Amino acid sequence: MKYLLETRNLTKKYKRFLANEDISLKVRENTVYGLLGPNGAGKSTFLKMVTGMIQPTKGEIWFDGSSWEREDLLEIGSLIESPPLYYNLTAYENMKLRALLYGLEDSRIEEVLKLVGLENTGRKKAGKFSTGMKQRLGLGIALLNRPKLLVLDEPTNGIDPIGIGEFRELIHRLKGEGMTIIVSTHILSEIMQIADDIGIIVRGKLAYQQEITKEEELEKLFIEVIKKAGERND
Ligand code: ADP
Repeated sequence: MKYLLETRNLTKKYKRFLANEDISLKVRENTVYGLLGPNGAGKSTFLKMVTGMIQPTKGEIWFDGSSWEREDLLEIGSLIESPPLYYNLTAYENMKLRALLYGLEDSRIEEVLKLVGLENTGRKKAGKFSTGMKQRLGLGIALLNRPKLLVLDEPTNGIDPIGIGEFRELIHRLKGEGMTIIVSTHILSEIMQIADDIGIIVRGKLAYQQEITKEEELEKLFIEVIKKAGERND
């Protein structure tokens, strides 16, 4: 079994607060990893270290068989917090800027715009997009370069219920193309149909990591894991 991403004792301290503590997490290649946990548990902190937005205090990150380097970011697409958009440009233009950076053909832009359902937005500027559309554009930008790893932090925030179904379909399709995907969420049901493996972060620690089980079981487990971790810390 090949792991595309592996962390060893990954730790992040903000002053004296341990936002991530000794997280050793493994993501199998060409799977969907659901990173679960209540709000404030440390999911974003973890994903920000993997995507080079913040530096670990301690620990290691391994990507595709070797120690993480900044160049790996060419193969790691991410959507964390608000998407990096130019509001005075159209969806196409926003993508074109990145396509130039990566040396990609215009045909790839068209393809990705279709993939995220923004092919008909024409001259509309990104600043006028709904929250869901902005998320889709952010997702499109993250995908543009066909990254090996796609990191999505609470991606369905702001997407309407129809969008959530489409989102699942898209994830499914990307996995079919060979991509590995990490999705974080605090809403269990969102991850159920798409994740192969799940990890649960509670108060900065990886409290659980396993292949996915049945929905009812996972729900129980989720509550139990959070309760137990709480008892340990109090
Ligand atoms: P999640 O993504 O699971 O909601 P976060 O990783 O965003 O959780 O946050 C984990 C904890 O770290 C929270 O208590 C948050 O307040 C704290 N935190 C996040 N970023 C910073 C920062 N830059 N400085 C200090 N504390 C932070």
